[in-house]
Amino acid sequence: MSTRRDFIRTSAGAGVGAALGALPKQLEAGVPNIISRRVTPVCVASGNGLGAVSRAIEELANGASTIEAVVRGVNLVEEDPNDSSVGYGGLPNEHGVVQLDSSLMHGPTRGAGAVAALEGFKRPSLVALDVMRYTDHHLLVGEGAQRFALSMGHQLEDLLTESSRERWIEWRAQLSDRDDYLSPEDSGERIGRFQEPEEFGDGLLDSHDGYRPQGTINCDIVDSDGDLSSVTTTSGLSYKIPGRVGDSPIIGAGQYCDNDVGAAGSTGRGEAVIKTCGSYTVVEMMRNGMHPTDACIEALRRIVHVTVEDRLRDENGRPNFNVNYYAVNKNGDWGGAAIWSGAQFAVSVNGDSRHEDSAYLFERG
Ligand code: ASP
Repeated sequence: MSTRRDFIRTSAGAGVGAALGALPKQLEAGVPNIISRRVTPVCVASGNGLGAVSRAIEELANGASTIEAVVRGVNLVEEDPNDSSVGYGGLPNEHGVVQLDSSLMHGPTRGAGAVAALEGFKRPSLVALDVMRYTDHHLLVGEGAQRFALSMGHQLEDLLTESSRERWIEWRAQLSDRDDYLSPEDSGERIGRFQEPEEFGDGLLDSHDGYRPQGTINCDIVDSDGDLSSVTTTSGLSYKIPGRVGDSPIIGAGQYCDNDVGAAGSTGRGEAVIKTCGSYTVVEMMRNGMHPTDACIEALRRIVHVTVEDRLRDENGRPNFNVNYYAVNKNGDWGGAAIWSGAQFAVSVNGDSRHEDSAYLFERG
């Protein structure tokens, strides 16, 4: 397996040259000087993607392309009714309608596809794949995306589960004491269970604003030829304003892949990632020679820097939300980082799938 030092050594000189204005030939086209060789396949994902990374690596071994491998990996989570942040069972918007977002990129063909605010399909990543394969476009939204999905033979389904509907009903009841929806306490009966952020499993340790759970799956892979792909899929911010689109379906925000360099993706507060072109920034940092972990940290620093709104900062001026980045490079190095400590990500390499601790900027109090 290539080491972090190898990667830096092959690229750092080019980075310094660029800073001094003496642009080496290979950098003129934005392609770093990476020596091509066999690499150990690696797949990383958000913490809820342990099954996904195993499956993706398995698919790769069985001959799937990198994009097929990661999509089949995240399909597991999209289909899982118990993951309330992705696909089937994902928490709905404020009107109780599940709207899903997904985007993906295939390194070798430089292909990209995405759907946003898609209603009625469990696996938006498959629709995004069809956008990439069967259209001249990169992003379809709302009703148009739905019609396209139907035209491609995807099956329309109700995505609310009993539990996600209950949780939405409870959220609606707690919104205001000036409307006619009763809170569970007022009605004298528990109609559901309000889930505190701490109760969420791996990768879902955060909440967008202290009480609305957040989550998503991002998955990035490199195969033995150094070919790369990335995918992100989500139900987005729970109870969002209908039509709100986060970072996940935005190419360059929720995921980005450059087959010359690496692939990266994000989970967490999408608005912060969109504003800083998050995943693109991580890949550009890797292009300049940074290890994936350092690249993730640097991109998070930018988020902290541009978070100037009081409502988004704690008493020490630090973001009161979290963002996580995950990345792999063309040499088979990987990393993950979050603004706040305590996050983990999933990795599968050399036949071992496990969680690793994410690097972080700030220690949780
Ligand atoms: N990034 C997603 C969004 O903002 C949500 C999340 O990952 O929590 O839509």
